[in-house]
Amino acid sequence: MTCRSNESLSKLVEEARPYAASGRVADYIPALGRAEKDDLSVAIFDIGNECYYAGDYKKKFTLQSISKVLALALALSDRGFDYVFSHVGMEPTGDPFNSISKLETSVPSKPLNPMINAGALAVTHMINGRDNKEKIDRIIRFVSSFLDGAPVTCNWETAQSEMETADLNRALCYFMKQHGIIEGDVEDLLRVYTAQCAIEMNCFDLARVGAVLALNGVDPETGKQIIAENVARICKTFMVTCGMYNASGEFAIKIGIPAKSGVSGGIMGAVPGRYGIGIFGPSLDEKGNSIAGMKILEMLAREQQLSIF
Ligand code: GLN
Repeated sequence: MTCRSNESLSKLVEEARPYAASGRVADYIPALGRAEKDDLSVAIFDIGNECYYAGDYKKKFTLQSISKVLALALALSDRGFDYVFSHVGMEPTGDPFNSISKLETSVPSKPLNPMINAGALAVTHMINGRDNKEKIDRIIRFVSSFLDGAPVTCNWETAQSEMETADLNRALCYFMKQHGIIEGDVEDLLRVYTAQCAIEMNCFDLARVGAVLALNGVDPETGKQIIAENVARICKTFMVTCGMYNASGEFAIKIGIPAKSGVSGGIMGAVPGRYGIGIFGPSLDEKGNSIAGMKILEMLAREQQLSIF
C-alpha cells in the first residue's frame, strides 16, 4: 500500500511541532541522545485501506517500550494466558516505567504489569527459543509478520548502547531472579530485551502494526489473522491502562485510545476498527512520552472523535 501525504495532517504536525521545544530527548541510552528534538512525523493507516502521512514518515526509530506490546503478544502465543499472568500482573502502577519500588512491596512478588520495565523483562524471559539468537530471531520474525513479512531490522548500535547503561534494568532482573520470577543468566536476558527494544521501523510501519491490533489481530490488507483475537484484545487493554506509563490515566481522559509509547519518541495507536497510528517525535516530557506526538493525538482525537470512551 502506498502512503499519501495529507494536507490537514501536515497542518496538525506544524501546530504540534513547537511543543517539542519544552521537552528533552532521552539520553540515558546514549545512542538515543543523538535524535533531533524537532523531528516529527505521523502516519495513519486507515482500516478502509488508505494511508496518510505528514512529516518525514520514512525516518526510522527504535521501538523501545512499544516493543513490550509485541513481546507480550508473542509470549501469550508461546505460553498461554495462565502461565504469562502467573509471572506478571495486570494492574497499572502510578510509578515511572523503570521503578523498582512496587516489586519490593507487592506480595507475592511479581511485576505489576507487562508495560513497565520489570514486567517487560519478565515477559521477554518467557519467549521460547533455545538461545539468545533464536529468541531474537523469533521476535524479529514475529514483528515482521505484522508487516506482511517485510524485513525488520534491529539497530545493534542502540542495543549495545543500552546494554552498556542498563544497570537499572539489571537491578530489576537480579531482584526478580532472587524472587524466582526469572531464572538463568541476566546478561542473556538483557541482550534479548535490548535487541527487542532496538527493533526499528518508520511511522508508516508502526501505523500498520497498530492497524493489525485495531482490527483484532487481522492484517487489514491480506485479511490474515496474525495474532489471536484474544491476544490482540489483551494487548489493547494494557495499552489503555498502562501504555503511556504513569500518564495513562490523563491520556485516557484527554485522548482515549489504546496507545503505547517508547523513549525513542515513538507512539503506536490502535483505534478499534478504524485506524493504526504511528508517530515519531523524540522530544519527551518528564514521564518519557513524546510531547508533540501526544499533542497530535490530542488534536486528532478531538477532530475525529476517536476516544473509545
Ligand atoms: N529500552 C528502554 C528501557 O528499558 C525502554 C523504556 C521505554 O521506552 N520507556 O529503559
